[in-house]
Amino acid sequence: MFTADNVPRAAEDPLFGLMAAYKKDTFDKKVDLGIGAYRDDNAKPWVLPVVKKADDLLRKDPDLNHEYLPIAGLADFTTASQKLVLGADSPAIREKRVVSFQTVSGTGAVHLGGAFLSKFLPQPTPAIYMSSPTWANHNQIFTNVRLPIKSYPYFSSETKMLDFEGMISALSSATKGSIILLHACAHNPTGVDPTQDQWKKIAEVVKAGSHFPFFDCAYQGFASGDLAKDAWAVRYFVEQGFELCVAQSYAKNFGLYGERAGAFHFVTAPGSDAQDTVSRIASQLAILQRSEISNPPAYGARIASMILNDENLFKEWERDLKTMSGRIIEMRKAFRDKLEEFQTPGTWNHITSQIGMFSFTGLNEKQVGILKDKWHIYMTKNGRISMAGLNTHNVTYVAESVSATVK
Ligand code: PMP
Repeated sequence: MFTADNVPRAAEDPLFGLMAAYKKDTFDKKVDLGIGAYRDDNAKPWVLPVVKKADDLLRKDPDLNHEYLPIAGLADFTTASQKLVLGADSPAIREKRVVSFQTVSGTGAVHLGGAFLSKFLPQPTPAIYMSSPTWANHNQIFTNVRLPIKSYPYFSSETKMLDFEGMISALSSATKGSIILLHACAHNPTGVDPTQDQWKKIAEVVKAGSHFPFFDCAYQGFASGDLAKDAWAVRYFVEQGFELCVAQSYAKNFGLYGERAGAFHFVTAPGSDAQDTVSRIASQLAILQRSEISNPPAYGARIASMILNDENLFKEWERDLKTMSGRIIEMRKAFRDKLEEFQTPGTWNHITSQIGMFSFTGLNEKQVGILKDKWHIYMTKNGRISMAGLNTHNVTYVAESVSATVK
């Protein structure tokens, strides 16, 4: 019999604890480097001007209503999303080998993919291999759908770069037919991505092991400012003829965090019966979607769809992406310059070679504690900082504080 007495208390999400402590802190120079959302140079949330424009147009639409979207979501949105991540000239799109479902942002897409794989994987269920470290939610999501979890080395704490050999060696010895979770770009939490040559080798090893690639793409365009560059790995794998899936989030690149716009794409392998495969997969995804959310949320998808499907708005969006990624790249430079200027022990080149929202600084738990208690600078215990929390007003203070703490 179920009894609430048997429910143990779950550990508090460390990020929530950090946010609460930051909020309570009354020090005027306090700095939040934990946040996973873009902030402008005044540490304020930024509504992309193109999103504001689309939002205004949408609100003026006299035909706008609040009906349910179809189970698979807004068709104009999912079709444009396929093109965005796979490339408009993708062989998979041309050959109609892609099934796309609108999801509750990237988290929902990862979950839908996990639930789908878990339901149809052969017994004994193969493991899903994820990078060590990875976005903490990956562990929870795939555990919830009962997939066995294994990890591959990813980050070298010595070089603060990719542990490429460790990664390749783990993937090479993984049981044949495993699922390999890969961050398409701007790896969270390390900010370290493979180079294109390294991706080619990863593809080789994944193919040799008959593994199934699962791409999590949460930062397209936000990482480098170039949508094609940030989707390069996904497109390369598709070109190599893999059957694979992609979880796509529009939280960061459109700043649509709370609107929960995202998509899940399943790309079937090239072959004569691709149409049949696509319709079987779509029929099963529809059942999962129906039982979990019935119909995806409409508003964010309408905004994204309007921008993705309009040439001028799309160009404007690309400019907004450059504004965000450019500011972050500038902050990486400024932070590294200041750390070096203050002769902070250690090397700091990783700050500028890492990419995207986050940087794995190499600061240890003790140093993170000192930065919080003495300097009022908040970051996760693993030394991850959100570059979006840095700005021209606080970068010197943060660098000075880190320097004093490391010395
Ligand atoms: N995957 C990764 C790696 C992420 O960093 C995030 C955002 N923190 C997501 C997926 C999904 O985020 P959301 O559900 O807000 O789209």
